[in-house]
Amino acid sequence: MATVGDRDELPVTAPYTGAVVGTVPRCRPADVAAAVDRARSAQSAWAARSIEDRAQVLDRFADSVLADRERLLDAIQVETGKTRFDALTEVLDVALTAGYYAQHGPGQVGATRRDSRLPGLTRVETDHHPVGVAGFVEPWNYPLTLAISDFLPALLAGNAVVLKPAEETPFTALLAHELLVDAGVPADLVQVVTGEGAPLGEPLISRVDQITFTGSTATGREIATLAGKHLVDASLELGGKNPAVVLADADLDAAVRALVWGSYANAGQLCISFERIYVERPVYDEFRDRFVSATDAQTLGATFDYGPDVGSLVSEAQRSVVEEHVADARERGATVLTGGRRRDDVGPLFYEPTVLADLPESATAATEETFGPVVTVEPVPDAQAAVERANATDYGLHASVWTADRERGVDLANRIRTGSVSVNDAFVGMWGSTDAPMGGVADSGVGRRHGPEGIRKFTEVQTVATQRGPPLVPAESIPTRFLARAATLGVRTVRELGRRWPPWE
Ligand code: NAD
Repeated sequence: MATVGDRDELPVTAPYTGAVVGTVPRCRPADVAAAVDRARSAQSAWAARSIEDRAQVLDRFADSVLADRERLLDAIQVETGKTRFDALTEVLDVALTAGYYAQHGPGQVGATRRDSRLPGLTRVETDHHPVGVAGFVEPWNYPLTLAISDFLPALLAGNAVVLKPAEETPFTALLAHELLVDAGVPADLVQVVTGEGAPLGEPLISRVDQITFTGSTATGREIATLAGKHLVDASLELGGKNPAVVLADADLDAAVRALVWGSYANAGQLCISFERIYVERPVYDEFRDRFVSATDAQTLGATFDYGPDVGSLVSEAQRSVVEEHVADARERGATVLTGGRRRDDVGPLFYEPTVLADLPESATAATEETFGPVVTVEPVPDAQAAVERANATDYGLHASVWTADRERGVDLANRIRTGSVSVNDAFVGMWGSTDAPMGGVADSGVGRRHGPEGIRKFTEVQTVATQRGPPLVPAESIPTRFLARAATLGVRTVRELGRRWPPWE
């Protein structure tokens, strides 16, 4: 077997052509140990710099990803086979996230005065300290957005980072590393360890101080087990089976346009894309027909120019999953309204955007994430039934609700059990609102990215309580019986004051 240095080679394949475009080292556990050591040795100097200084580095990085976007777009497209526009959304996301944390992050992890139950006696403050070295295991579907954006808040908070990118997409991560260093990140502070996940999981998790994982629910469970074993805090962003609900009063033009895009963006290999659409019966036939013809109008293409709507799937393994789900649906009596075919004429891993109807509950695609351009449409009698269908899953990542009545939309959103819901939008307004946390409930994960939640998880909160008077310990000169009465009276008084405070309300 070929080697890089004395490590075996891991080939990287371009989905557009099937050709091997390069190799990276298949790192071993010892490489992970060395990477964590090196990152840790760079961390204290980084943490000692002011947070404003670190914010400036992130800001410069935001500028450089925009300036160098063509190179990044090429790398992302070569490794993933996605369209140039899908690749651009990654670049824009990284610039937005870096800019957001550069501007708001310092205020989110600064020192805060807390209420004291003994005002005048105890002054209480909390502060956020970096955890140390944060580990990241990331997937192939958004090799820039997920692998890089996820760790930007960790860097701002003063941590070092060790990243294990997906086997399919190491070059995007390595290119982003180059841009980070150019922007002023010390070279050793961010370590990229290439290779397969399973052999490197425990070596990484046993050494880092926090682990962030984005990927499948099955791997997420393994990561959570290792995090439990090594008592490391874990943030897990996992799979989904995202529902959209279209009520009878919805703007059907907008709903069809947004849900077609929201189902086939990144060829459906997107954690928040839609795989189930529930439509109120009075508008079901019209919605279905319009959705199918808009799906038919989607263009496929393998090009490094802007143009096609839908790109390639990433790998043969991913296309097999899609084909198996559609074959199983057909066997169990589902109707394929459009699509349902490979498109080898476009590229070796292309698959047509596909709409299923009459999908029985027993079908694999009814419950398991397909992670491809396949979506099911189903009529429902009313909004309550739509909520029940939306919630009939073990996942809980994202949902979309369509109605002319925005208040009703928010009410419906509150009844859907997901980490985020978009009303009258697919997901861009939600994802693009970097101040708002996103993440999953139930089998879709634990923890949130974005917003204050997305940076504080990379810190340890420390409480410092400073006494102004004598220390609060039982005084030897006061009998315990008297002290017990005084302390009880004190707690009663504090509770009473709490109830009546402020007196003008
Ligand atoms: P995956 O779980 O197979 O792999 C993800 C990463 O984990 C890769 O880097 C891989 O090398 C590594 N890995 C695999 N097995 C491992 C192990 N035993 N120990 C440690 N690391 C291991 O997922 P994938 O197929 O690359 O990604 C697709 C999945 O990711 C989908 O389920 C999708 O929904 C999910 N996803 C979720 C989000 C989110 O934010 N919730 C975002 C994107 C993708």
